[in-house]
Amino acid sequence: MTTLFSKIIRREIPSEIVYQDDLVTAFKDINPAAPVHILIVPNVEIATVNDVQPEHEAALGRLFTVAKKVAQELGVAEDGYRLIVNCGYDGGQEVYHLHMHLVGGRRLGPLLPRKE
Ligand code: 5GP
Repeated sequence: MTTLFSKIIRREIPSEIVYQDDLVTAFKDINPAAPVHILIVPNVEIATVNDVQPEHEAALGRLFTVAKKVAQELGVAEDGYRLIVNCGYDGGQEVYHLHMHLVGGRRLGPLLPRKE
């Protein structure tokens, strides 16, 4: 199986890539939830956080250093932004290739609605 995001990483399907290195790729979300909405994805296929192994630590740590860099470059670092990793069905994960959302450019409000 190859994931949708692997095809984006290999540039087999189009996307707006804003950063890429040997461990991670960052590209614009196709359906942005805010003025800035970037997905930062390990180049290796990891389905969910439940599948994370110790050998993934370098790539997963890189998600944060790239989040910081991209936030600065896109002008949201000073005002702030939110980093989100959804896991599985209840977590609202749609694409089963672990990824970090970087969302900003407006006041985001509370993390979750306070309801059951
Ligand atoms: P999840 O719900 O899995 O955490 O987030 C998946 C994200 O991938 C969604 O925000 C969705 O808009 C985005 N997405 C789905 N398909 C594509 C695509 O083909 N290209 C890009 N750039 N983003 C996509």
